[in-house]
Amino acid sequence: MQLLTDGTKNNSLLGFCLSAISRFQDNWPPEELVLAEDFVTWLGFKPFMTRDALRQMCQSKGVTLSFEPLPDDVRGLNCSFQDKKEIVVSRRELAPFADAHTLFHEFREMIEHSFIDLGYATIGASDSLEIQAELFAMSCRFKAAETELPAFIQKTMGIEKRWERYLLYLLLAIFGASYFFSCIYMRQLEDIGSEVQRQRYVRT
Ligand SMILES: [Zn+2]
Repeated sequence: MQLLTDGTKNNSLLGFCLSAISRFQDNWPPEELVLAEDFVTWLGFKPFMTRDALRQMCQSKGVTLSFEPLPDDVRGLNCSFQDKKEIVVSRRELAPFADAHTLFHEFREMIEHSFIDLGYATIGASDSLEIQAELFAMSCRFKAAETELPAFIQKTMGIEKRWERYLLYLLLAIFGASYFFSCIYMRQLEDIGSEVQRQRYVRT
């Protein structure tokens, strides 16, 4: 006997979208930060992942991730064809944490296309998916840091030598501030990065 399925067997991302719809349909669309929190948990993302780890993480969700040379003004691409899903991120990382930022951006666009197919668009026709995807990427990185931060602080508190502990607190504060700064200003940081690269190229 052939069982009818909802198509999530070969398409985990669709599964994520369906569960988001069932969770939030009374209050649709969900806030970007809420959607981001669910997504980060579902994806299993952690703030310090190597490219290999990111690739494996995506593969486990049925999405092929690769890092390829792309034109200067293109940070990433995504493409879905039937059950095949692919994300390409620029091989040149123009700012710290740009890989993860671009990855979340591309995922958000894929998610929106699924939501639209299912009749649950989260943004109006006149709204920009680009801006929404940036907001989502920012939110995902905030959420990922928020879940990791208590563990770091806990570790720091366990250090016996007082000066070592204070030094680590200081580093943590500096790192935290720059991380959150990069969450918000990723676009600008990448523009600066690309300008610096361009000038370097012009000079040599
Ligand atoms: Zn985009």
